[in-house]
This record gives sequence, structure tokens and C-alpha cells, in this order.
Amino acid sequence: MSKFLSPTLAAVTPYTPGEQPQDQQYIKLNTNESPYLPSPAVIAAVSEHEVEKLRLYSDPACADLLKAAAAHFGLQPEQIMPGNGSDENLFFALRAFCDADHPLAYADITYGCYGVWCGLMHIPSHIIPLKEDFTLDPKDYYGLNQTIVLANPNAPTGIALPRAEIEGILKANPNNVVIVDEAYVDFGGESCVPLIDQYENLLVVQTFSKSRQLAGARLGLAMGNAKLIADLNRVKFSLNPYNINRLTLKAGQAALEDTAYFDRTRAAIVDTRAWTKQQLEQRGFAVLDSRSNFLFASTDRKDGDTLYKELKKNGILVRHFDAPRIQNWLRITIGTPEQMQTFMETLDKIMEE
Ligand code: PMP
Repeated sequence: MSKFLSPTLAAVTPYTPGEQPQDQQYIKLNTNESPYLPSPAVIAAVSEHEVEKLRLYSDPACADLLKAAAAHFGLQPEQIMPGNGSDENLFFALRAFCDADHPLAYADITYGCYGVWCGLMHIPSHIIPLKEDFTLDPKDYYGLNQTIVLANPNAPTGIALPRAEIEGILKANPNNVVIVDEAYVDFGGESCVPLIDQYENLLVVQTFSKSRQLAGARLGLAMGNAKLIADLNRVKFSLNPYNINRLTLKAGQAALEDTAYFDRTRAAIVDTRAWTKQQLEQRGFAVLDSRSNFLFASTDRKDGDTLYKELKKNGILVRHFDAPRIQNWLRITIGTPEQMQTFMETLDKIMEE
């Protein structure tokens, strides 16, 4: 770091993203991307004509995308805000609803960025441990008088809370925003979007990175009461009014409209997940009940770090977190059936050594 860096930033530990090798030599099961191509409709929408229009700024209101999203989710456009990935929307939400005097409550084992953003914005973290089995007790979140963020399904565990349990948390915190990060909800979770008209304190955040094959386009949606969305727009228009680029606006709209492709690809992931879980369990692995596009697994025959390194040596990238409670676990993204077959064969070879 330079001598010019603000001391307040020097104290922040940035998030470490999963490895993104650029040489394609790995089977990439480490950052929960989709193994499938974007929908053909997306590829058609990002046309040469649209590329030519890149000389012009994108629509700051994102009107066409909002219209498509409103139709898809059964909401009004004023209840939705697109972000540059759901990361941006989550950041905007923390900026809008938390500060040095208004902490953020979240689980000890969950998406790492929540804590990083708290550090960056001097928001106190109220960290609430998950139970021994990595499930969450909703009662731990009742009457907190703090903004809450819940990843549902959670990451990196994949465990989901039923909608009714989140409803309990919403009811028990009527004066605080409850952010439900639904990055993985399309793989078997219960979305809270149907609760939006009932709870003015509910903000749901979804992403196009996992179930819509657009991780590299950077697109997410925050959905909630129109007043909450206006608050997020206050942050956006104070930072970067053109936060979604032209190509992403087109790609996102096409992806939303191709519901058949969306359903087919997420069903394929759910099937492959079931197969992979069964295979791992047959080999004695502990595997959590995942409603996401990854599995969280461990074995006492080899420690998590060693297994991660040996898989990498053999051309397979998975995610290992060097963090308390989960050091012995690996998060394995669900790829194509062929990739998971190779993964199992490689794992067998490593476990025999
Ligand atoms: N929330 C969770 C729980 C995630 O795992 C991720 C992806 N790492 C994100 C949000 C952010 O995804 P994106 O910014 O690509 O939408």
C-alpha cells in the first residue's frame, strides 16, 4: 500500500474472490458460475448494432429491463432496481440502511462480502453463530433492532430457510430492513418475492450470475417496497447513474424473457447436484442439504486444504475457505454431468493415494 492510503482503508481486509484462471486448463467448480452457455436469445440480443451504440451512455433508468423484470416477478417497475451484480445492490443497501450507529446482523458462516462492506463503511457487525449443524435459528434474529442480511439459500453451506421462517424474522423486526440475498434461490429455495407487497421492511436481492449464465455481464436485481427502492436509487444516483452497461441491459432482458431456457438449465443443475451428492455420500463424505448450485462437503480421511490442493494439481478447481468451523469443508460448484463424472474419478484417484 502507498503512504497516501487513508488509514481507515488500510484497516479493511478486502474480499478474496475465487480464482479466475484465464487459460481454461481447469474444470472450474469454484465460483458457482453456470456451466451452460447464456440463452441463445441473449447471444442474439448483444448484437453488432448494440455494440455500435456503446458510444452513447446506457439508460440510467434501465426502463426496458425493469419492464421485463416487473412482468417476470409480478411486481411494479418502481419495486425493482438493477445493480452491477448483486454485490452492488447489497452494497447500496448497506450504504442506505446502516452506518456507524446502525449495525448489520448476519451469520458467522455466510457470504464474506457482508463483513468486508461493513469494514469499508464503518458499520458495526453483529455476527450471529449458526447452530452446530450449520442451520440457522430464526429466533436468533427476532427483535434485534438492527438491519439484517440473510443469504437464502446460504453460502457456502447451501442450506435454505423456508419462506415462513423468514416471514417470522420480518414480523419480529418491523422497524428494520431485512435483506434476503437470494443469489442461489433458483436451484430449490423458496423466494421471498411473493412477500414484498406485505412487508415494507423486506428487500430481496437476486443475481443473473448463477441461474441465468451472466456472471461476466454483472447484473443483479434488488426488489422491495417502492420506498426502499427509491432509497437505493438515492445511493446509485449519488455514485454511478449509469451503473448497468448497454450490453448487459440487453442481455439481462433477453435472459429474463427466455423462461424455458432458464427452467431447463436450472433443472439440469438440480439433477446433477442430486447425482453428485449421492456419489459423495457413497464415498463416506458428509454433504449438507443444498438448495443451491453447489455442495458443501467434507471427509475425515483428508483435510480440506490438502484435498483442494490435490484437486487443483489434477485440473479441478473447487473452493476452500481458510475460516473457523469450515476449514475441513470444500464448496463444489455443480458443473455439467460430464464435469462431475470427471470430478468423481479424480477424487477417487486422490483418495486412493
Ligand atoms: N451473494 C452471494 C451469497 C454470493 O455467493 C454471491 C456470489 N459470489 C453474490 C451475492 C454476488 O454475486 P454477483 O455480484 O455476481 O451477483
